[in-house]
Amino acid sequence: MAKKIPIGLLAGAAALFLLARPRGGGSGAIPLWGSTSVPLQVQNGRWSVVHLHADEQDALAAAQVMAPELGLRVISLDPERNERGVSFSSEGRTFTFDPNRIFDSAGVQKTLAAADGGGVPSSLVAATMAFGQTLLARIRSFEGPIIAVHNNTPGNLTINSFTPGVNAIDVSRHSTSDPDDFFLVTSQRLFDAFSQLPRNVVLERLPQSDGSLSYAAQQLGIPYVNIEAQHGHGEAQRTMLRDAVGVLQELYGTAIA
Ligand SMILES: [Zn+2]
Repeated sequence: MAKKIPIGLLAGAAALFLLARPRGGGSGAIPLWGSTSVPLQVQNGRWSVVHLHADEQDALAAAQVMAPELGLRVISLDPERNERGVSFSSEGRTFTFDPNRIFDSAGVQKTLAAADGGGVPSSLVAATMAFGQTLLARIRSFEGPIIAVHNNTPGNLTINSFTPGVNAIDVSRHSTSDPDDFFLVTSQRLFDAFSQLPRNVVLERLPQSDGSLSYAAQQLGIPYVNIEAQHGHGEAQRTMLRDAVGVLQELYGTAIA
């Protein structure tokens, strides 16, 4: 017979669980520094699709077009800014960071830079770090895997950029797929499932943190799939979104309400 657990202990455990998995992520702005905050748009849906680089509008458009059919919860960081970096001012100086490199302190230290090339005050490092953690908490407040969408420029980042043992654990190439369009996943389970598709797939290898969402998701044990497509490859990215949801539904569908 199972041992009876006191109600108080259960309540305590539930409270801890709630603390560990922050709730209440919806649309709204995330405070950054001074009067600057960055809008986060969240559409209702079942599968989280995260869009961080606002200059990659094709990726966002693909997610938005597919949202009703696939039940995508499109989470987009300030899509109107139309720039890759997030900028803010302090005491007359401008600072910029890559919003996909701020999910730990090593990443923030590396990406946060002053437009004038000068030093960055530690208070701004701390503010950017806090911003990254709040953004991550918002993303984590939703259940299930994370799908990220990105665009690349032709030949810049392709499936051929990855070599097993160097920057990948494994790579699966498919001859009918454009090398610029590929899935990047963070677990063997996902790699095995996605390599069944007629698509390029890379199982990422990050020996140390780069502050990216993929690294953070890996550390937190959250299944993560990045759908990387060339600018202008909207149709490919839309089909890849459908493929990804199909695979994730099979792997995790029953676990998500
Ligand atoms: Zn990107």
